[in-house]
Amino acid sequence: MYIDTHAHLFLDHFKMDIEDVLDSCMDYQVNRIYLPNIDRSSVEALHEISDRFPNQCFPQMGLHPCSVKADYKEQLAFLYKQFKDRNYTAVGEIGIDLYWDKTYVNEQVKAFKTQVEWARDMRLPLVIHSRDSLDMTIDLITELQKGDLTGIFHCFNGTVDQAKKIEDTGFMMGMGGVITFKNSGMAEVVSKINLDLLVLETDAPYLTPTPYRGKRNVSSYIPIIAEKLAAIKECSIEKVAEITTINANKIYNYTPV
Ligand SMILES: [Zn+2]
Repeated sequence: MYIDTHAHLFLDHFKMDIEDVLDSCMDYQVNRIYLPNIDRSSVEALHEISDRFPNQCFPQMGLHPCSVKADYKEQLAFLYKQFKDRNYTAVGEIGIDLYWDKTYVNEQVKAFKTQVEWARDMRLPLVIHSRDSLDMTIDLITELQKGDLTGIFHCFNGTVDQAKKIEDTGFMMGMGGVITFKNSGMAEVVSKINLDLLVLETDAPYLTPTPYRGKRNVSSYIPIIAEKLAAIKECSIEKVAEITTINANKIYNYTPV
């Protein structure tokens, strides 16, 4: 079986056919799908799908860095309240994004630090977005780590050196569609990272793997990513499925029955 450690199946892209999407996940043995929140506007849909499919979809709560604007404090206050009524599997998706817009970088750092403390207090893992900010987010986690933080650097696309630094923080790295892109240059880096540090993710509906690039991404494409990872690591796809599932269960604190 497989785990999709990161997908946004609560977005409008899936509104029409979420049941079919999740049925197809079962066909491909993608049995558990973790859903990181985006911001206040996505909470209702996140809860709705998690309640409808409680054995397949597991919600996470946090403020995505691309949604950190002037009103971020109100956003954080609203999202923090959600933890009172519900169990979440992680604080996410949080982080720093310097690709789209650098206007609110200081606010992004403040929101990130606040949410890291939520995770520490609630003993939850972190799901970290680090687009064009990997050194910065690694430095922040290194600075904030007191031995009690765990989590995933989602969509890892860094260097061997950065992977080593992440390993030193005790975090894992998410492998998604990017490793299937011909020009990503990730194969060489990933070949040097221990499988014990890797989990699978789609980031659906984004970052669709080859050969479906340009179309909507879905969690049932996880085996495509696993196959590519197996080729890079020169091992069987079964081994990739087994180890990445163990890793994901460990990070998300889930004991299979
Ligand atoms: Zn995401």
